[in-house]
Amino acid sequence: MSGIYVHIPFCKRACHYCDFHFSTSLKYQKKTINSINKEIEIRKNYLNKEIIQSIYIGGGTPSLIDVSEVEKIIKKIFKEHKTKKEIEITIEANPDDITKNKLSEYKKIGINRISLGVQSFYDKHLIYSNRSHNSKQAIKSIELILESGFDNFSVDLIYGFPNMTKKEWEKNLNFILKYKVPHISAYCLTIEKNTVFEKYIKNRQMTELEQEYQKDMFLLLMKKLQNNNYKQYEISNFCLKNYKSLHNSNYWEQKKYMGVGPSAHSYNKYSRQWNVSNNLKYIKSIEKNIIPFESEILSEEDKINEYMLTSIRTNKGLSIKFIQENFNQELNDHFVKKIKKIPRNYIKIENDHLILTKKGKCFADKITRDLFYLN
Ligand code: SF4
Repeated sequence: MSGIYVHIPFCKRACHYCDFHFSTSLKYQKKTINSINKEIEIRKNYLNKEIIQSIYIGGGTPSLIDVSEVEKIIKKIFKEHKTKKEIEITIEANPDDITKNKLSEYKKIGINRISLGVQSFYDKHLIYSNRSHNSKQAIKSIELILESGFDNFSVDLIYGFPNMTKKEWEKNLNFILKYKVPHISAYCLTIEKNTVFEKYIKNRQMTELEQEYQKDMFLLLMKKLQNNNYKQYEISNFCLKNYKSLHNSNYWEQKKYMGVGPSAHSYNKYSRQWNVSNNLKYIKSIEKNIIPFESEILSEEDKINEYMLTSIRTNKGLSIKFIQENFNQELNDHFVKKIKKIPRNYIKIENDHLILTKKGKCFADKITRDLFYLN
């Protein structure tokens, strides 16, 4: 089974930390959506007719566009692909776009999961990062989602804003617990290239929080959610029972997926490809029936790196047997040599799987980098 990702590259405004592809001009909105629908048709064989078990409409801010446009995309996917009966259809939404009416329309067109970009319940963090919503809208949107009967939804949070204290982070988590949000994605703020925050750092207008402080926030996140029956099924993703995101799990389990829309990535186990990150170039190329993408064929080394990168972040961990059975002796020797160098209290071996301990999770990025096979 596979998944389809749809990238809607439009936002109301640019968040200061964001390096995704999006445009704040809606000028090409209609044409982009039409092109996305055409791309779905042109690439109908990309997934080799595998059954689609999840559709994820992300961006950008897909809640910005008319529900009728979203409906066209979903219908197109259903027309061109075989879909699982209990398909998961997620849409990313920002709190300021959520209304009772919109939620009811989402339901009607088959959307059964909302991923809400809250980030923080404090106005000072939202203003600092140039988000388009405020804390009142964040709370209101969660209440509306609950009232409208969407039991499956996720809230995105960010910790580690330079102006965020541990107390504030804890209060943010308390909001999540109060509303019994079934799924949480919580990421530490990272300073990406070509973002406003990167400029602030360069100009010394901003100082990043100390890593130890960020680590404490991460430890608090794990402790608090674990104490409240959330399962940390991936380093940054937590869910109550039965609310794991199928679509995200696809990525971590190396299942195939097709990404459509400007900048969207696709993966079919042999290669990776990504569409041009420019709305106009995308539209013009699709007009000529040409998908504007670049690609790379995955070497054995790429595949093992990819496997380690994704699996080690999950609660299942990295299967030693899988590595033994799927990769050559040289890569296996490399793997064994690298594992021996990881501090013992960072990992544990359970049922032939290498799993990060709580302490190890704090250093997941470094551990993965160290495991990487580099030519
Ligand atoms: S709304 Fe999302 S995609 Fe748009 S700028 Fe903000 S973080 Fe990036």
